Amino acid sequence: MSFSTFFVKSYGCQMNIYDSQKIISILENKGMKQNEYAEDADLIVFNTCNIRDKAAHKLYSDIGRINKFKKEKTIAVVGCVAQAENVEMFNKNKSIDIILGPQSYHLLPQMIEDIKRNPKQINTEFIVNEKFDYLTEQKRKQGISSYITIQEGCDKFCSFCVVPYTRGPEYSRPLKSLIHEINSLAENGAKEIVLLGQNVNAYSHSHNGRKINLADLIEEISKNENIKRIRYTTSHPINMTDDLINLHSTNKKLMPFLHLPVQSGSSEVLKKMNRKYDINFYIKIIEKLKTINPQIEISSDFIIGYPGESEQDFKKTLDLVDQIKFTQSYSFIYSSRPGTKSSFENDETPPNIKKERLFILQEKLKEIQLKFNKSFCGKNIDVLIENQSISNPEYFFGRTPFMQSVYIKSQEIKPGEVKNVNISTCNHKNLYASC
Ligand code: SF4
Repeated sequence: MSFSTFFVKSYGCQMNIYDSQKIISILENKGMKQNEYAEDADLIVFNTCNIRDKAAHKLYSDIGRINKFKKEKTIAVVGCVAQAENVEMFNKNKSIDIILGPQSYHLLPQMIEDIKRNPKQINTEFIVNEKFDYLTEQKRKQGISSYITIQEGCDKFCSFCVVPYTRGPEYSRPLKSLIHEINSLAENGAKEIVLLGQNVNAYSHSHNGRKINLADLIEEISKNENIKRIRYTTSHPINMTDDLINLHSTNKKLMPFLHLPVQSGSSEVLKKMNRKYDINFYIKIIEKLKTINPQIEISSDFIIGYPGESEQDFKKTLDLVDQIKFTQSYSFIYSSRPGTKSSFENDETPPNIKKERLFILQEKLKEIQLKFNKSFCGKNIDVLIENQSISNPEYFFGRTPFMQSVYIKSQEIKPGEVKNVNISTCNHKNLYASC
């Protein structure tokens, strides 16, 4: 079989979407062409996520769907489900040809070659620095807002999470190669850099005999005049060092918006989750941030219905939301992942109670988000323009410093500009303006 076209589908978090961009670059650099539809592609790549049970189920149903309409094809399953389920995937679904863990995407072209001789290919080793060395050399297709992975893996072992098993231990990329890559993104038009990592604020690397942390890295990136905005995600509360907190006051390119997952408002649940902090510790971080920069807004992640979560625990989560007023958040019902510590715990809360709690929480979060968005109506705010609508070129899309999506009707703005616009209307998800 010859491989001239490919299709990539991404599941899960921003890191996976970023990894998919890398996979696309790798395959394009080998002369292959990306197709919008799986049915037109020789190679179908599923970049998987194993954080929730639902994403893994979705993968197998997608493979089943493709099998119905396409006989001649090669299916590669890459990412965290590939890492976790490993060779077992070949038994679960015979049409899978390639299994590739998240540290080895750069080996994909070689595996496509090898498949002509050996029809089942697998690589799930942790060779993280080799991956980054290779990917740095790749040509990038990135936008005004460009994502860059600076850190991978996790040593925290939260009791519900598979990441330490699928992505391996914490690893930080060298400063020199990051600055080189970021400068080249800026030369190609990037105005905003979003630093990514499973524990991005655990970033730590030795450079010329000195330990560089995330605050140092952000300061270094800020020296590039073309970069107007810097963000980082996802952070762990225990890695919010004082110098990183203070940077939210002193570094004007660092946006006043922080995604800081809390997971629960109950210290008892946090302990069971092995989050390594209690709720007072979390609240103190937010207080410090708001003291040094009263403008700062916080978003978070919540897990509802963790085994043993009582009505009282859930109430504490609602109280925390009332206190912090998170302006954006992700919330999910707890999903047991095989092999994790929590998968062995008794989970007695009925599914309907969990659903009800999630609904109550999400309604509260939505209400706060809407109120926050409404506070901008009739006011001016800086928006970094990211792109122009293809279907309706009168409209542009951009983001405020607080990550709100803004749709702007205009004849005169260009992607890459930071435009001060007057917000006319909003809903809980978006702001709208014209200029
Ligand atoms: S900090 Fe916890 S939730 Fe985040 S990746 Fe590590 S183990 Fe998973």
